[in-house]
Amino acid sequence: MTKEINVPFLIVGGGIGGLATALGVTQTGRSVHVLEQAPEFGEIGAGIQLAPNATAVLDKLGVLDAISEYAVFPKRLVLMDAFTGKELSALSLGEAFLERYGYPYIVLHRSDLHKALLDACRANDQITLVNNQVVQSAENVGEKVRVTCSDGTTYLSGAVIGADGLWSNTRKLFSPDKPVCSQYVAYRGAIPMSEITPSADLDDVIMWIGPNLHLVQYPVRRKELYNQVVVFKSFRYKEDSDDWGTPEELDEHFGTCCEPVRHAVTFIQRQRRWPMYDREPIGNWTAGRITLLGDAAHPMLQYLAQGGCQALEDVACLTESLRKYGNDTEKAFLAYQEERIPRTAEVQRSARLWGEFLHTGDAMAILLRNRILAGRSADDFSVSDWLYGRRYM
Ligand SMILES: Cc1cc2nc3c(=O)[nH]c(=O)nc-3n(C[C@H](O)[C@H](O)[C@H](O)COP(=O)(O)OP(=O)(O)OC[C@H]3O[C@@H](n4cnc5c(N)ncnc54)[C@H](O)[C@@H]3O)c2cc1C
Repeated sequence: MTKEINVPFLIVGGGIGGLATALGVTQTGRSVHVLEQAPEFGEIGAGIQLAPNATAVLDKLGVLDAISEYAVFPKRLVLMDAFTGKELSALSLGEAFLERYGYPYIVLHRSDLHKALLDACRANDQITLVNNQVVQSAENVGEKVRVTCSDGTTYLSGAVIGADGLWSNTRKLFSPDKPVCSQYVAYRGAIPMSEITPSADLDDVIMWIGPNLHLVQYPVRRKELYNQVVVFKSFRYKEDSDDWGTPEELDEHFGTCCEPVRHAVTFIQRQRRWPMYDREPIGNWTAGRITLLGDAAHPMLQYLAQGGCQALEDVACLTESLRKYGNDTEKAFLAYQEERIPRTAEVQRSARLWGEFLHTGDAMAILLRNRILAGRSADDFSVSDWLYGRRYM
């Protein structure tokens, strides 16, 4: 027996993007349902960096104070050479940074961020959270949107936002495209500080870079845990296979790095690997009363640490657009995508380019890159203004 449920506003996906959207949409006076495929809401056991363009949004959503209790406020973003062990460049995140952007750069455990959003959603009686609902499709039918789930349940909603991530089903309405595999793979996780001997400064976010590889390190959860991500390009990549980017390749790649990097790699969890994907930007992600948000709309490589930040920028822009256009949801969705598509496409493309810049193996390119990096001062924010300075709320 199939059920059809009438709801005013529906969000597909209860990740960071979906839950933040629920909080934003209710600020415009609407009630929302969030459909999540997993039996429980949650996030993976690794860290996330949030720049001021994201912390500003979290503040407007009313969750920044809760998050700040667990977050770490690093002093610098540092680029190190993974082979020579030398510092290449740094961006100071101190007072001048805070004054310029008005909000801090923070690092935290993903589950702390997700839990703060989830707690705020649970405390909001305009938000209904539903688990075990795998959304298969969404289609405009007259003044409504019909959403069909794999268990046969259908929802009739006034509007739908697809925040269902990289492998989004909602996106199929707009494009037949597939995620693009970068042939890079990540191993990541946060481990208790007591179990490791960090060789790096705990006040910094450190990125060690080298040809076809990098390692990112920073503390999370009030410095109780240490988050590490190793990333490398596999030379054994095979389409439609999981037999590449193995732990053995990880050891081959990092085996000749400097001692602190080799030491750090011994603490990396090897049970699970994450192949790195993005997609090409698309020119339309809105149809009638359906739109996309976050990775469903614009998945990007993680090299600028901006995928989640861009999802939060989406939330701010969409919330303001819904506020501005009142009951005209279609107009609000169109205005939102008009603003967000050029912005997110630029960040997607820049993330790819930044990856090439970091991972180059060409000797001349490395020499020039390191000269450029050495020539800039830690208080020169002209490079980060375009990324961290955007505000919608
Ligand atoms: C190694 C790595 C490091 C990163 N580091 C950073 C960083 O430091 N800073 C940063 O800002 N970003 C970072 N990112 C990117 C960031 O993780 C993502 O951009 C962000 O999580 C996207 O959030 P989302 O809510 O759009 O999608 P997701 O987090 O993927 O959430 C989608 C949700 O939808 C659910 N779902 C999926 N399909 C369906 C369906 N059919 N029906 C119902 N529910 C469904 C999923 O279960 C999930 O809960 C990183 C990414 C990687 C891979």
